Amino acid sequence: MKLLLLIGAVLLGAWLWRSGRRIRTDDDVKRKAPEAPQSEMVRCLHCAVHLPRAEALPGRLGPYCSTEHQQLAEP
Ligand SMILES: [Zn+2]
Repeated sequence: MKLLLLIGAVLLGAWLWRSGRRIRTDDDVKRKAPEAPQSEMVRCLHCAVHLPRAEALPGRLGPYCSTEHQQLAEP
């Protein structure tokens, strides 16, 4: 079970990283990035998945990867 989660996290991370990079090369020229630099990663407080800050959901206690995990951690 843990292994499955790890594989899923790696695949998701690779996908996000690639799609994020592809979009960024296009958009970076047109609009300047907000406060978050492109390499900044945050960790979901519930499942510890790493994801770009722009993709994370800000919760009361910290960032989450999804609304499900936010609700699980912050009932
Ligand atoms: Zn999570």
